[in-house]
Amino acid sequence: MRKKIAAANWKMNQDKSSVKSFFSFFENYTFNQQIELIIFPPFLYMPLAHELNKNNLFKLGAQNVHYEEKGAYTGEIALYMLKEFDVQFVLIGHSERRKYFLETSEILVKKLKHVLKYDLTPVFCCGEELTHRYQNRHMDIVYGQLMQTIFQFSAEEIKKMIIAYEPVWAIGTGVNATPEQAQEMHHFIRQSINEHFNSNIADDIPILYGGSITAENAHEIFSMPDVDGGLIGGASLKPDSYEAIVKALNP
Ligand code: PEP
Repeated sequence: MRKKIAAANWKMNQDKSSVKSFFSFFENYTFNQQIELIIFPPFLYMPLAHELNKNNLFKLGAQNVHYEEKGAYTGEIALYMLKEFDVQFVLIGHSERRKYFLETSEILVKKLKHVLKYDLTPVFCCGEELTHRYQNRHMDIVYGQLMQTIFQFSAEEIKKMIIAYEPVWAIGTGVNATPEQAQEMHHFIRQSINEHFNSNIADDIPILYGGSITAENAHEIFSMPDVDGGLIGGASLKPDSYEAIVKALNP
């Protein structure tokens, strides 16, 4: 059975005090062991998150990483630095990185290779724009994104990845994909993985939905058979709404 995942992408939000309150809310907390909780804090708060995560309730993820080992890349973060804080996951291909930081498929492939080389887990994001959906090209667009990136990797490599389907029109807009829209795309992604690799990999790979998940809509979206959890932005900033979303993952 695939693990359920609630991944919190804090983006460029939070401060020292809100990070502290978040972790203290979950002190002495136990969740269903079948649910993996991942926090992607801003880099500056990674050491604090690492220190406060005393009961190891959460796993830590990075919102970005550079694909070179180290060196003259002003403003960037190297993977070995992440490892010093037990970071296990890296977001790759988030639409905000593609749009504002001009990350191309070529760059994403370099990042994927680098992250896999050091045994971290890429959380690979894909998703169409609203115009693509209006033009009924959403499947083609997502398929193209997969072809140019994770489908360039071997079966052994893709097994180590997590996919997040995040329709761009749903991110931070308050307009989520309907459970049926999410299911249709997740099923399509799984089917494409089956065709390119095999059915075991397709059955085992976690596919998360991301885009305006809230405590109110999470249960319905998570009840879809091919949705294995969520990548949650805005609603993961406050511990009580994140908690409610995690609870919606419980079978
Ligand atoms: C995200 O940025 O990955 C995301 C899904 O954001 P939000 O939940 O705020 O739409």
